[in-house]
Amino acid sequence: MNPDEVRAANGGRPIVFRNATVLTMDGQGILENGDVLVVGEDIAEVGRALAVPDGTLEVDATGGILMPGMVDTHRHMWQTALRGLGADWTLSQYFVFYYLSWGKVFRPQDIRAGNLLSAVEALDAGVTTTVDWSHGLQTVEHGEAALDALRTSPGRFVLAYGNLLGAPWEWTNSADFRSFVAREFGSQSHDDLVRLQLAFDVTGDPAFPEKAAFEAARELGLPVTTHAGVWGATTDESIRLMWDGGFMTPTTTYVHASSLGQDSYHRIAASGGSVSVAAESELNAGQGHPPTWQLRKHGIPVSLSMDTSVWMSGDLFSAMRATLSADRGREHVEAHLGGDTVVHNRLRAEEVAHWATIGGAKVLGLDDRIGSITVGKKADLVLLKNDRSPAMYPILHPYGTVVFQAGRGDVHTVLVNGRVVKHEHDLVGVDLSAAKHAVANTVEHARAELGEEAWRESVTPELATTERIPNPYTYTEYEGAETGHRAQQD
Ligand SMILES: [Zn+2]
Repeated sequence: MNPDEVRAANGGRPIVFRNATVLTMDGQGILENGDVLVVGEDIAEVGRALAVPDGTLEVDATGGILMPGMVDTHRHMWQTALRGLGADWTLSQYFVFYYLSWGKVFRPQDIRAGNLLSAVEALDAGVTTTVDWSHGLQTVEHGEAALDALRTSPGRFVLAYGNLLGAPWEWTNSADFRSFVAREFGSQSHDDLVRLQLAFDVTGDPAFPEKAAFEAARELGLPVTTHAGVWGATTDESIRLMWDGGFMTPTTTYVHASSLGQDSYHRIAASGGSVSVAAESELNAGQGHPPTWQLRKHGIPVSLSMDTSVWMSGDLFSAMRATLSADRGREHVEAHLGGDTVVHNRLRAEEVAHWATIGGAKVLGLDDRIGSITVGKKADLVLLKNDRSPAMYPILHPYGTVVFQAGRGDVHTVLVNGRVVKHEHDLVGVDLSAAKHAVANTVEHARAELGEEAWRESVTPELATTERIPNPYTYTEYEGAETGHRAQQD
């Protein structure tokens, strides 16, 4: 079909993807030369050479991979407004910037701007469900702005409501917040595209003031997502307090969980909780090494996340790649330290691709609706197809292609709840220029609030120096080269 037809396709015409390599992620494995028929919001049929209703729109998926929409279980969408600013930050520099210095300058419209751009970024990259770990909500007006951005974006979202400048035991119990919940989510149904959670951290204070926030979550029937096992910030003591209080439940998401002891992993496993691994963030910022090797040993469900675009881009291709690289890299280092060689990999591309899709759906309790290509589920679908990319050919190991070869530029078509939001590499019904315009305003505001000196220091934080090791060998020509590069041989 031509792109104009697709753009008009939200009128409810069925859509069929023809001749794809279909990654079902539902235990049925891979269907080669497969067709998938979407009728209304749902996946109606999966098979080969499907007969379809009159008027069905056809998408030629030949040479492509059709997979479920990806699920990101932890993304601070508001921070997308300052995309890439923190590329060279450590975790403590991040904390100083947002928690101590500048988090307060973000107005409701800034939260909305970051969320809008982040939502577009997610959809463009085939991430159809995103948990907005929204801890910049200083006031309920900020919360309304975050929610407005999510509801006006054609994706599936969870607003994980938080406030890094407030005390969770206070804001979760404030009249303002409670009326926001009643007003906006009072009649939350299973079909809603935007759902609600609570997002806060447990510092390990022995008085456990967060108890009242957990009680609020229980009273409101809302899942809790919490940064756990973050080096220097949240610890085993935080987990112990939650356990002793009876607040570790199957709906609790532990983000990172990367610097915990065995006992904490036992507690997470025993209570049925799950972990959101943000490998790129953990490797760059230093929360701890990505814990997939621990989670596998403890049988703890895994989902993936990218954390924040103030460091890295909001796509799960890089998250999958970093997760697999981190897991295997750690195992090699450990083996080499013992004089051994890893001869079989434990973690496969297939498992990581599952974590990015059905794994995330399970963590959110949405696996009866999304996360796999299964008849009766909602049509959240991603077609990876790029005839201009040498990296998309040949496809000999489809999971390997998804994890190690593909990128956002290969996302050809995206459906959310049966609605086309991207086709032939172009966004459909998504206003990128409006989002960019809003973010430009926020950047201008933030830069003015910080002042030029603080802004410059944020972009180029102080570097740790590396002391050169004395070298017993001497290369006269090399040492004489002013450029620092190897001197030419002749
Ligand atoms: Zn985070």
